[in-house]
Amino acid sequence: MKQTVLVTGGAGFIGSHVVDTLLEAGYQVAVVDDLSTGQVENVPARAAFYQLDIRKQGLEEIFQAVQPDYVSHQAARANVRESLEEPVLYADVNLVGSVNLLECCCRYEVKKVVYASTGGAVYGEPERLPVDESHPIRPLDPYGASKHHVEHHLHICRHNSGLQFTTLRYPNVYGPRQDPHGEAGVVAIFASRMLDAQGVTINGSGEQERDFVYVGDVARANLLALRTGKCREYNLGTGLGTSVNQLFQALQKLMDYPQDPQHGPPKPGEVFKTALDSKAARRDLGWTAEVSLEEGLGRTVESFRVGR
Ligand code: NAD
Repeated sequence: MKQTVLVTGGAGFIGSHVVDTLLEAGYQVAVVDDLSTGQVENVPARAAFYQLDIRKQGLEEIFQAVQPDYVSHQAARANVRESLEEPVLYADVNLVGSVNLLECCCRYEVKKVVYASTGGAVYGEPERLPVDESHPIRPLDPYGASKHHVEHHLHICRHNSGLQFTTLRYPNVYGPRQDPHGEAGVVAIFASRMLDAQGVTINGSGEQERDFVYVGDVARANLLALRTGKCREYNLGTGLGTSVNQLFQALQKLMDYPQDPQHGPPKPGEVFKTALDSKAARRDLGWTAEVSLEEGLGRTVESFRVGR
């Protein structure tokens, strides 16, 4: 009999790719998502869909109906800048919602939870690059703090109820289905503005660096984590930072975009440079990022072209 994975946030950008990968690997998949930022069209017909806020009591009825073997927890509010304006919302959805979910996981004896955390926001401004998992945790924004807090609850659930988990600390993930209209997701924003022949604004100098990883690689890491990950946190990343200026130039070349960028004021509260050391993920999960930035940007731009 097929094993069932309940994916929270499976109508979102990364969650929907996780759903695709799990279905391809032969799992049965159910999605719970409140569609606050996700789209029902992202959920394949082969997956069961439940529209619900993970903070709600009704979550238990979904566990009752689905009886999941595994839970892949991708649902969250995921915008650093928004979290600075709405810290209570971020604590509520990302922390309280996750604790509600973990209670159900323990009660329904889920075999394992894979949790989507963030390597870009939990460490704060890194003391060294690339950052490994032993780096001090010093989030600079409510988003990073809320995501990290859940990592503690996973250890607590394991200690008290024997719940197995693997936490993945994602880098800057990009690819098809990323929202080009939000404030986050610089690749999606730049690519979609270039496709529409609109101007592109870089916040600050553009020398800020991020570790960009293609979404398919992140979805594959989720599958590996579900199967072989230990009860610990793993960074996902290439170990290399790419500046926003370099990213702009790569997209400009790829799309033959004729305009120069504008530079706006830097956005407060953001980490300046980050890159993630993922040696532990390589050792324990057999994971490395396989899609180069050039290849991943090409696939992303193509998907945005087809979608309009
Ligand atoms: P996304 O906004 O596309 O996906 C989040 C999904 O969660 C959406 O479908 C949304 O509708 C759903 N959701 C939000 N609040 C919910 C709630 N209360 N109940 C049920 N569903 C809810 O964002 P994403 O970029 O795909 O992020 C997915 C996960 O990856 C998040 O946990 C995020 O913190 C983490 N992450 C993302 C990145 C990145 O680069 N995109 C980096 C680090 C970590």
